[in-house]
Amino acid sequence: KYYNQIEEMKGKIRVFCRLRPVNESERRRGGELVATVEDQYSLDFATPRGHKSFVFDRVFEGHESQETVFQDTNALVQSAMDGYNTTIMAYGQTGSGKTYTMIGSQNEPGIAPRAFTRLFELSEEGKSRQEVLIHCYMLELYNDRLIDLLRGHCNGEAEKLEIKRDKRGSVHVQGATIRHVNTAQHLQSVFQEGLSHRHTACTNMNAESSRSHLLVVVSLTISSRQNASVLRGKLTLVDLAGSERSHKSGAAAETLKEANSINKSLSALGDVIAALSSEAAFVPYRNSKLTMLLQDSLGGNAKTLLFVNISPSSYNAEESIVSLMYASRIK
Ligand code: ADP
Ligand code: MG
Repeated sequence: KYYNQIEEMKGKIRVFCRLRPVNESERRRGGELVATVEDQYSLDFATPRGHKSFVFDRVFEGHESQETVFQDTNALVQSAMDGYNTTIMAYGQTGSGKTYTMIGSQNEPGIAPRAFTRLFELSEEGKSRQEVLIHCYMLELYNDRLIDLLRGHCNGEAEKLEIKRDKRGSVHVQGATIRHVNTAQHLQSVFQEGLSHRHTACTNMNAESSRSHLLVVVSLTISSRQNASVLRGKLTLVDLAGSERSHKSGAAAETLKEANSINKSLSALGDVIAALSSEAAFVPYRNSKLTMLLQDSLGGNAKTLLFVNISPSSYNAEESIVSLMYASRIK
């Protein structure tokens, strides 16, 4: 049933909310549950001023598995193979489960590894009809600077990555390393290689991964064997920087710069998605590098899925409500 819904979402943006289980530190602090799932589509949030209900395209409880989450996400992977630009992103405060959702672990693989496997399965299933070429690039966006995560080594010089659009409107990142991949395992190992390059000495940064956005772009060139037609699809996976506001009064200059830059890009993303869902005449893509990178994968014919990850505990209630408000502005 959901498959059909998501198939019809042309030009639409979906928002899924995922709660994570209460963690040990929240339990120790005696945090009570403030976010509870009402049903598959709505969440109840207890605020000091009463209960508030938030409606989503889907709400996942803390115990719902990576497999279950992927089942409802899978259709977007299929869409990329059908020639759409699709984006799956995770938004939320640090520790809310974004990376768990988008990447996961060896034992609990998240969306990225499952999507990689699925893409190659689909390519294999369709091979009598079409030939599919799969390429990938990986970027980190930190303090409004783009970093190529697949650049093999670094020699200290600043990278020149430029966001360009071609005459079809497709976004390209000039200067980024693009890898051709043959199998799901190959794509997975390229992905792991890219992850291992986050914040290396190369960029002279020691920030945590939660302070930068991670983008993985898998592009598909689908050539028909019956005629000369070529379809292009693209699957972009984004693990966004933590959405928390910096409360620390004595925050170092670099931390403030980080916070400002994250704030700027996340609000630019919210502005773009809100403009798209209200069908506004003007969509402000050019206000941040993040939205410029996603320009061909948000709106138009693209299909977008945003996960809002939250903690269910009162201990994180303040940030959770901010995330829920961000999400409801989009809907
Ligand atoms: P973020 O990327 O938003 O900072 P993480 O994905 O790293 O957060 O999650 C924080 C911790 O919570 C990790 O140890 C992760 O394994 C755990 N976690 C997050 N979501 C879930 C979940 N749905 N089920 C089980 N553990 C989870
Ligand atoms: Mg993370």
